[in-house]
Amino acid sequence: MAVGRFAPSPSATLHLGNLRTALVAWLFARKAGSDFLLRIEDLDQASARPEHEASAIDHLSRLGIDWDGPIVRQSERRDLHEDALATLTAAGRTYPCYCSRREMLAEAHAAISAPHGPTAPIGYPGTCRELSARGRAEREAAGRKPSLRLRAEAAEMSFVDQLVGRVSGVVDDFVVRRADGMPAYNVVVVVDDHDQGIGEVVRGDDLVSTTPRQLLVARILGFESPMYAHVPLVLDPEGERLAKRHGAVTLDDQNSLGRSDAEVLSVLAASLGLSDNDESVTADVLVERFSIGRLPEGPWILPQNLLEPVT
Ligand code: GLU
Repeated sequence: MAVGRFAPSPSATLHLGNLRTALVAWLFARKAGSDFLLRIEDLDQASARPEHEASAIDHLSRLGIDWDGPIVRQSERRDLHEDALATLTAAGRTYPCYCSRREMLAEAHAAISAPHGPTAPIGYPGTCRELSARGRAEREAAGRKPSLRLRAEAAEMSFVDQLVGRVSGVVDDFVVRRADGMPAYNVVVVVDDHDQGIGEVVRGDDLVSTTPRQLLVARILGFESPMYAHVPLVLDPEGERLAKRHGAVTLDDQNSLGRSDAEVLSVLAASLGLSDNDESVTADVLVERFSIGRLPEGPWILPQNLLEPVT
């Protein structure tokens, strides 16, 4: 039985798309009789807000999504993240990178406009990979703060996603520690999932392309990777990725439009092929009905009337 989780970043209030993904993650776990954990991904303290954490907890609970054990916060696990970075470095798999974002954009642009098109996979071009000790010292002397990158050795990683199918990608030398000193998401998420015994990662499909990087980190650290299911995102009526600026997209907004929490759950369930429109359901009923095969394949286009008051 694969332990599941939902791992919101408390940088904004959860919107209907986030809540729908959380519901799917919860259904995967509960259908299998597995534990389900809530992890607050407040790694980036600059954007994390306690009120967003509080509303995430409140909104999930109001939909009937529950979790086991204490809520874990990424910000409280820095030691574990540092240990992993030390292991990667001790294995000779990291190097300091002094490139600024501007320099990298210029390089990427040059690669794309080269006569024969890009020669390397899009991603970090490897500028600092073989920097000499002198080259490093010069940059340090100029006051540049390095980030730390993984020596990915252009590893090709693939996996079979339960919703998306086979995915593979060539991993670039991505950042494992940001120039401000913070361990980067692609390492932290792997460490936390491993430490918490997560067997199944269900999350939005905007993160599919990050998964090969995470698989590589897991392989170098000697961790078994979880199974993955990337859920198609919710799009607004114009086909754009749903965001707060689209209006009444949070649970509280929906309440203000006249839709109760139970009615929002019904809307989400219908969007997942688990109920008829307007049928009233509970989270527990959805567990009984859930199967991966019932989930729609494409994104859910939010109907315009959901952004308008109930008549
Ligand atoms: N914290 C990420 C987000 O809110 C999710 C990361 C994950 O599920 O692995 O988009």
